[in-house]
Amino acid sequence: MSQDQRIEQFKNMAQADPENELGHLSLGKAYFEAGQYELATGSLARAVELNAKLSKAYQLLGAAFEKNGQRDQAIDTLTRGVTIADNQGDRMPRDAMMQQLSALGAEVPSISNAAPVETASPTSSESTPGFKCSRCGRPNGQLEKRPFKGVLGEKILANVCNGCWREWIPMGTKVINELGLTLASSEGQTAYDQYMIEFLLLENR
Ligand SMILES: [Zn+2]
Repeated sequence: MSQDQRIEQFKNMAQADPENELGHLSLGKAYFEAGQYELATGSLARAVELNAKLSKAYQLLGAAFEKNGQRDQAIDTLTRGVTIADNQGDRMPRDAMMQQLSALGAEVPSISNAAPVETASPTSSESTPGFKCSRCGRPNGQLEKRPFKGVLGEKILANVCNGCWREWIPMGTKVINELGLTLASSEGQTAYDQYMIEFLLLENR
């Protein structure tokens, strides 16, 4: 799929279901990747408005403001984002935003969660040691078995909690209906998997 087609597809999704943060996040990311930073800030700001806990959206929004020459907004967004990501144990976006802030010459907020989450709760649950949900950051509630066969299914078992997986299921149905995806075609399956990866924040796992 070309960049333009991706933008078109995400635009349709954001318009068809304007209260769904995933459409706006995906669209903002696609604009960002296409170098359309002003449009990216609009979509990402909407995603954050709909779900104030989306660490990844703050990170991208901060970067988009910076690229768009809006330094103050970038600092403001990243400062809020660091605290939100820290509270949720989302270490990767948190550390990236701290780096972005220091590169901008801004003050970096102090964080509470400096120790790795993994060592904090040695006896908390039956989850695999070191398990931390990629979407919500919880160290427990791991699925008991992979939700479907294949590499992506294994990745979900290793990285996603039961609650977040259950949130995805109705979202997945919406994605199929709104985009008219046919899972029988490899193109449809790829697009569907991509939404799932975005929703569950599995990209870097
Ligand atoms: Zn979760």
